[in-house]
This record gives sequence, structure tokens and C-alpha cells, in this order.
Amino acid sequence: MLGLMQEWPLNCHKLIDHAARQYPDREIVSRSIEGPIVRTNYAELRQRSLKVSQLLRRDGYRRGDRIATLAWNTARHIETWYGIMGIGAVYHTLNPRLFPEQIAWIMNHAEDRGVFVDLTFLPLLEKIAPSVGSLRQVIVLADAKNVPDVNLPNVVAYEEWLAAADGDFAWETFDENTAAGMCYTSGTTGEPKGVVYSHRSNVLHAMLAALPDSMGISSRDVVLPVVPMFHANAWGLAHSCPMLGAKLVMPGARMDGPSIYELLDTEKVTFTAAVPTVWLMLLQHLEETGKTLPHLRKVVIGGSACPRSMIRKFQDNYGVDVVHAWGMTEMSPLGTLCTMKPQHAETEGDERLDIQQKQGFTPFGVEMKITDDDNRELPWDGSTFGRLKVRGPAVARSYYGGTGAEQFDEDGWFDTGDVAHIDHSGYMQITDRAKDVVKSGGEWISTIELENLAVGHPALAEAAVIGVSHPKWGERPLLVAVCKPGKEPDKSDILRFMEGRVAKWWLPDDVAFVDEIPHTATGKIQKSRLRELFRDYRLPGD
Ligand code: AMP
Repeated sequence: MLGLMQEWPLNCHKLIDHAARQYPDREIVSRSIEGPIVRTNYAELRQRSLKVSQLLRRDGYRRGDRIATLAWNTARHIETWYGIMGIGAVYHTLNPRLFPEQIAWIMNHAEDRGVFVDLTFLPLLEKIAPSVGSLRQVIVLADAKNVPDVNLPNVVAYEEWLAAADGDFAWETFDENTAAGMCYTSGTTGEPKGVVYSHRSNVLHAMLAALPDSMGISSRDVVLPVVPMFHANAWGLAHSCPMLGAKLVMPGARMDGPSIYELLDTEKVTFTAAVPTVWLMLLQHLEETGKTLPHLRKVVIGGSACPRSMIRKFQDNYGVDVVHAWGMTEMSPLGTLCTMKPQHAETEGDERLDIQQKQGFTPFGVEMKITDDDNRELPWDGSTFGRLKVRGPAVARSYYGGTGAEQFDEDGWFDTGDVAHIDHSGYMQITDRAKDVVKSGGEWISTIELENLAVGHPALAEAAVIGVSHPKWGERPLLVAVCKPGKEPDKSDILRFMEGRVAKWWLPDDVAFVDEIPHTATGKIQKSRLRELFRDYRLPGD
């Protein structure tokens, strides 16, 4: 017997319809690429998205066509997403921080037919476009008067293009499993792999992201997604915020400390989210200027491990709650978030930080387990670590074109490539990427744990640990560190600071000071590059 409830396909345009009906005047504020702050609201945003749909149809795009975006976080970028999805086409976010050849490879693989591009990225697109055979239209997200002469096919200025539509258009209807969006993993090794989100997975993810023990956002919040829309869907915020009616503040191209602070302050932002590197810049700005964060209630930090010292500073110095989160492009992207379960609600000080340093527990809609290399499930005891595997309605079941099939098993589990332990209360902690873990004498050493510890040293700005080959142990950890301006600690200082806080045999064999640590296009430490740089490094006593 079947239930007798209505079929109501989970299409993404329903999110923006809801926002426009229930919260028509709620603002979306953007730092425009041209410079000034511009304001729109959900009613206008929906209207302009409908025009995007109408014109894409007029220009010959069809259901399933991939249409790329090469853009910062602005209201215009959100309009293009809803407009593309509204005709059943697929928005494909491109990460401008990748090398031009990688972007060209990705666009060719996805066979992008059109691209919405910010002014900033026109020179980049000029390098890429000649090698992308499928590309037939370039829509520049600006007024005609701001679009320079460029060597690109079929260039139109977004505002003039949009002016040709009257918005008398209805979203198309299609199955909720229709593809909605696409994003390639950054692929530090091997070729990038395409993740294809569906309308259903985006809507379900928007819901699970918003839950009180996930991001916990409401219509009363003012949300600043610093995490780019090209980095795993801005962690779902461009879907969750319209669903909730939260005010959005979009930072455009400027993510430095002073620019972010200005928006937090003038727009009275209550909730924000980004990777740790962004928050390093903001905290440094606050320390230099003595400014405070009176409006900010909560910050979600993920994408790479959040250092304990960062959680402490936000909470103790500025009264801002930190939610540490873990996820990946393949998971839409949220996997776990670290809020306090009832048994931990009253914990304070170091005990609370111990919990908050973990990446947290899964919301409804994500299942996880850890296994050994033979796929045997491991206990949730807070110390045994193994391969982290996940499944759920917003987790990929395969990559575009079927590459990387070995990461998916027949029971639907996706091997994340992360190594983690899970404690009795269900809190997961990432100890490494499977390929970064240091294997010393057959035992595993967590590089992330060592890095977290090292950056707690008052003289260090950033730290990375890599395995360096060792004749006796196979590999031993080397700490690569960047000092804060004006600080010159010596190696023994740093090692003494770490002593007693991890097992003795985990302590790095040496410390190498560098001016800069290389990062990937999504802000993670580029361990592969570091390993290359230190390939011939000789540890003391070797
Ligand atoms: P991406 O798909 O670019 O978002 O990268 C996903 C990967 O980033 C994960 O598989 C993890 O290795 C890493 N990652 C994300 N969040 C965290 C976190 N909070 N702590 C440690 N690693 C993280």
C-alpha cells in the first residue's frame, strides 16, 4: 500500500519561490566587482533569475546543458544559478584559482556551452576559451559600459542581455533527480573528477545544513558566506538562505581582513563561514586594530582542520561561537558539524575545546563509518583510526563519466580518502588524508594533530607536517613552520612547547622555517608540493 500524499518534486526553484513569497524584502547585499556595495532582495532576485531562464531558453540552451560560472560571491552569481537550474540546465562552478590548463581541461570534460564570467576573470577566460571547443557564448556579469574589448566568442554584457527579457516565464518542471549543478574536485593528484548534484540532493542538503545542530540559521540571521560559491556550493548557503529567508551579504572579490571586517560591521552580520586561512587574516586585523565583533554570533570553520587557538580566540576574545565542520565536494559538501550534544552542553574551557577540535557528528541525512583496509568496520572508541566512509541522499554515487569508481562500493559507501576516529558520543575527528599520514615504523602519526598543536605556539603563524624518509623508521615527521611577523623562535622552543602533549614518538624530528607554505586552489595546505620541496631533506642524526 502506498501513502496518499502529494508528489512535490524537490526542485531548487522552489527555494527561491518560497523566499520571494515569504521574505520578499529580505536583502541580498553584494560588494560588486565594479566596487560599490549594491542591494537587492529575494523578490527581485527571483524576478531576475526568471529572466535568466527565459533568455537561456531564447538563446537555445536545453535541459542538461552545462553552463559554467567563473565568478565571486555576488547576488548576480546566485541569479545565474537559479536561472540555469530553472530550465533544467546545469550550473558548473569553475575555481579560478586553478591553473588555466586545468580549467580548460575541466570545461572540455564537462562540455560547457556557455559561461557567466566576472570582469576579474576575463583575462583568465581569454587564455582558456580558444581551447574549449564546446563554448559558444560568454555572458559578462556587468553593464556594457564596464565590459572591455576582449578576444572571446559571442560576448554579451549581463545587464543589457537581461534587459531584453520581460520575466514573463515559468520555471520548467522536471523530475527532482535531474542534474542541477556540477563541481570538480580540486584534484591535487590525478585528473579532477566531476561531482553532479541533483535538484533533490541540493534541496535536501539545504535542509540538513540549516538544522539547529548543523549551521542553525534562521530568518533573523544575516549570513556572510565568505566560502566561495565555486568551493563546494558555498557549503549550501546559496540554497539554505533563500529557504530560510536569511539576509545574505556577499563579499565579492575581496576577502582580506579589513574588507571582511567592514561587511561584518556595517551589515551587522550574525553568521559567517569560511576556511581557516580567511579567519587568520581577520583575526590578525582585529589584533592589529583592537576592533571587536559585537554582532557576530556564530562562525562555521571547515575545509581544513580548525586550529584550537583559533577556536579559543573567537570564543574567548570576541564572544563568537565556533562550529568546526567537515565535508567535501562529493558531499554537497556538509558531512559533520561540531555542536554540543546534551552530555557536553555544560563543558567549559579546555574540555570544551577538546570536543570542538573534533569535526563533529553527522546530521540526519549523512551516515558514516570507519573501516580498516579490508573494509572491516572499526569501533567508535575515540582512538582507533581508519578510513572514513559515508553515504546519504546528498553524497555522490559516482563521478561524471564514471572515473574514480574504486571509491564507491556496492553497498553505496563512498570512501572519502580521509582517515579518522569516532568517539563513543559519535564525534568524528579527522586525523589525516590517507595519503598524508606519516608512517613511522609501521605506526601512523596524525599530521593534523601535530599541526594543530604547533600553531598554538605564540610565535607561529602557520604549520604543516610532512613525512620525510628515514633509514630506520621509513618516515619521520618534519614540521614546516611560518613565523609571525617579527618573531624568531628557535627549533628547540617549538619542540619543547609540543612535548608532553602528544606521544613522544610522534614529536617531529626537526623544524624547518619557511616564508610561506604552499596552498591549493581551495585554501588547503599543498602537502604534495611540500613533500616535493623537502624530498632531499636530511633529518638531524640521519
Ligand atoms: P573539498 O572537496 O575541496 O572541500 O575537500 C575535502 C577535503 O578537505 C576533505 O576530504 C578533508 O580532507 C578536508 N577537510 C574538510 N574539512 C576539514 C576539517 N574540518 N578538518 C580537516 N580536514 C578537512
